[in-house]
Amino acid sequence: MRPDAAPSKRTFRIRRALVFGCAAVLVVVLVVVGCAIGGVFGRGGTTGGTGGASTSSSSKGIGKTGKTAGAADGAKSDKKPEDRSADTSKSAAQSGAKAGKTGKPDADNDASALDKAAGTLTDAKRAVILKKAEEAAAASGKARVDLTYCVATKGKVGDLDTFATQAYEALNDTRGWPRAGVTFTQGDAADGNCDFTLILSEARYLPEYDAGCSAEYSCRVGDDVIINWDRWRTGTAGWLKAGGTLRRYREMAVNHEVGHRLGHIDNETPCAGDGKPAALMQQQSKGLNGCTPNEWPLDSELWTQ
Ligand SMILES: [Zn+2]
Repeated sequence: MRPDAAPSKRTFRIRRALVFGCAAVLVVVLVVVGCAIGGVFGRGGTTGGTGGASTSSSSKGIGKTGKTAGAADGAKSDKKPEDRSADTSKSAAQSGAKAGKTGKPDADNDASALDKAAGTLTDAKRAVILKKAEEAAAASGKARVDLTYCVATKGKVGDLDTFATQAYEALNDTRGWPRAGVTFTQGDAADGNCDFTLILSEARYLPEYDAGCSAEYSCRVGDDVIINWDRWRTGTAGWLKAGGTLRRYREMAVNHEVGHRLGHIDNETPCAGDGKPAALMQQQSKGLNGCTPNEWPLDSELWTQ
């Protein structure tokens, strides 16, 4: 009996051990599985939540890529020691502008894309633009003025024609100075008949035109209207953050500086209040004072001397 009893007791113990063992294993497995499922769901929620963060971090990634690309663009096309600070502000400004917008506006914030799109204007295209400008000027009821300007570059600032195209389009835009009766024809410096010269200049040369000109901004000295190449490529961070685009900044810079040539002075019309468009002659690069970016003369600015 005993030997029998002993094995049967042992068998019972073994069975009990097996049962409890299995149960314990089952419990462990259930806990592990439970944790795993919980973890997945928990993380799923976080992923959903991070979905936004993930999106923004991937857009941060895109921003970074854009920044890198921007820096690379700058490095490959226009690298020079004087532009280091401007390159930094370009990265900041452009990534800021890119982060807030998607799709189409990016092209309007990309200096290379703008230059590429501008290309060279054919005479036929110039004629079409000028005709519209002349119609707007005639409709303005103001005294008609047609100014011939020449275009030049100073230093290494890229292609003259792409600058000339964008300047011509900005100056003769029917929302611009034509509303004050003024139209613009691009002339040839060799003919010596330039009413003024529009110059795209490396930033470092700006103070050479006049002690009052800063390497930071564009300037007008007599019949020289000088566009600062750093600003041409990057705008200003504040202006872009306020919703402007680089394309519009370029139009603003050209129209503002030529506005000086027409007799206007800086800040002759202060910002009319938060959210109102800035006057063209407001020094928008230095601050918008609550106004919104604006590249065209306000109704109150539609005069020339
Ligand atoms: Zn000014």
